[in-house]
Formats: sequence, C-alpha cells, structure tokens
Amino acid sequence: TYAWPRELNGKRLMLSIIHDVTEQKRLKNELEFAARRDYLTGLWNRRYFLGLLEKLRHQRRRHDADFSLLMLDVDHFKQINDRYGHERGDEVLILLARTMENRIREIDALCRWGGEEFIILLPHTDLENALHLAEILRTAVEQLKAPHLPHITISLGVAQYQQEETIECLISRADSALYQAKETGRNRVVAAR
Ligand code: GH3
Ligand code: MG
Ligand code: MG
Repeated sequence: TYAWPRELNGKRLMLSIIHDVTEQKRLKNELEFAARRDYLTGLWNRRYFLGLLEKLRHQRRRHDADFSLLMLDVDHFKQINDRYGHERGDEVLILLARTMENRIREIDALCRWGGEEFIILLPHTDLENALHLAEILRTAVEQLKAPHLPHITISLGVAQYQQEETIECLISRADSALYQAKETGRNRVVAAR
C-alpha cells in the first residue's frame, strides 16, 4: 500500500494505491519450492542437499561432530515400471519417500538424488548408528504393503565422514558401498571402507 496527502479542489485528501500481490507471492513460493525440492516426492533436491552437506562439513571442523550418509537405490525398478506402468512406479517412489521420512529424525535430511535413488544425511551419527538406521529402513521397505503397488526392496550403502575428505569423496564411498550391496544380491546394507 502507498499513501500520501493530496490537494484537490481546495480539499486536503489522502490518496492511496493498493496492489494485490497474491499472485506475486504465490509465484515466489513456487519458485522457492522448485529451487529446493523434488517435484514428485517433495523431498530436498540434489542441489539444495549438496549445499546442506557442504555446510555441515565446514561446521564439523569447528565442533568435531560425526556425520554419516546413507545412499539407497530401489532394486529392479525398471521391472516395476515395465510390469506395472510408469505411473505406479511414481506412486512407489512417493510411498518410499513417506516411509523413510517417518523413520528419520527432524535433523536428518532426505533427498531424491535422482530417478529411484535417494540419499540421507545423518548429522551427529557414527557408522554404527547409521548402519542401524539403514537396516530399519531396509526392513520397513521390505515389509511395505499397499494396495495396487508391487512389492519392493532397496539396497543401501553407508559411509561415515572421514577427517578432511571432500564431499565428493564421501558420496563416492557411499556409492561404492551401494554398488557392492547390489553386486552381492540386493536388499541389503553395506558399510563403506
Ligand atoms: P538395480 O538398481 O536393482 O540394479 O535395477 P534397476 O532396474 O533399478 O536399475 P536402473 O537404475 O538401471 O533403473 C532405474 C529405472 O528407474 C530406469 C528409469 O526408467 C526409472 N526411473 C527413473 N526416474 C523415474 C521416475 O521419476 N518415475 C518412474 N516411474 N521411473 C523412473
Ligand atoms: Mg535401481
Ligand atoms: Mg538406479
């Protein structure tokens, strides 16, 4: 709202202009959502997640707190798409996101890394505790039952941040562990070396 005094025909008046910014606000919110979130699941997107990770790595130097990463991928997801259709596949991804969201802490960050891959940042968590959560998630997914949706399993790689390593290195170790979980039979958790 803008307002200022104005004289008209010898009378002192107040002139005001009011703008409706509803649409502008809605667009701003939409843009902010798109910049940080994955459109399908509403989870953090890769770009925002990498920012969080980098921030935590810098904080760690000061406070010396442990943190870990879980990287996970749906087993044989291509077959799920082929057999049940892409839309059902999307529903599986949303169900998976909600299942994991319900089992992590407020301080953890869950991200859709890409396609049917997810990554979770666990602040103040050592390898042992991260492995424990990974096993809880693996079991929870394995036991999921939803009408019209196929049975699914996930494979997970777990890595704890090591002194002075880069974020790329940490992610790459978690990814290698995930690869090993796939290679050794899927529906399992592997710890990174
Ligand atoms: P595995 O990981 O066990 O080795 O096998 P996979 O079949 O899951 O392997 P892959 O990573 O090659 O396949 C992933 C598939 O995920 C391929 C792609 O069509 C599908 N996909 C990626 N993004 C989406 C999405 O947003 N929705 C759906 N429905 N499918 C997606
Ligand atoms: Mg897969
Ligand atoms: Mg994949």
